[in-house]
Amino acid sequence: MAFDPRDIYDAAALYDMWLNCHACPASFDFEPNRPIGLDYYHDIGQKAKQEGWLVAEQIDAAAPDEQAYLVMCPRCARAHGIEPDHRRRDAVPTAVKQVCQVMARAEAGKQVA
Ligand SMILES: [Zn+2]
Repeated sequence: MAFDPRDIYDAAALYDMWLNCHACPASFDFEPNRPIGLDYYHDIGQKAKQEGWLVAEQIDAAAPDEQAYLVMCPRCARAHGIEPDHRRRDAVPTAVKQVCQVMARAEAGKQVA
């Protein structure tokens, strides 16, 4: 399994760099010493999904090029009665695509050096 920008968990982990609960101080803890790259964000995203974290897209009609995610730890998601939605998206948001390309280029550069 590799990074999938249509998976909202992968996309949010990459775009937000870190998953922090918006309702309490909890943050998703994941091997901070690993090298940063698409695999790293994929693993963060998938582990958060398995552990029941909530990631939801926040649509801002006033800023369609901006991407924003609502993130909640499993406890807060339950407390708010929100069911995580694990469906893959049909399209990748432009902002996520751009971060993805930058990250892929940075990784490619590292391998050549
Ligand atoms: Zn929380």
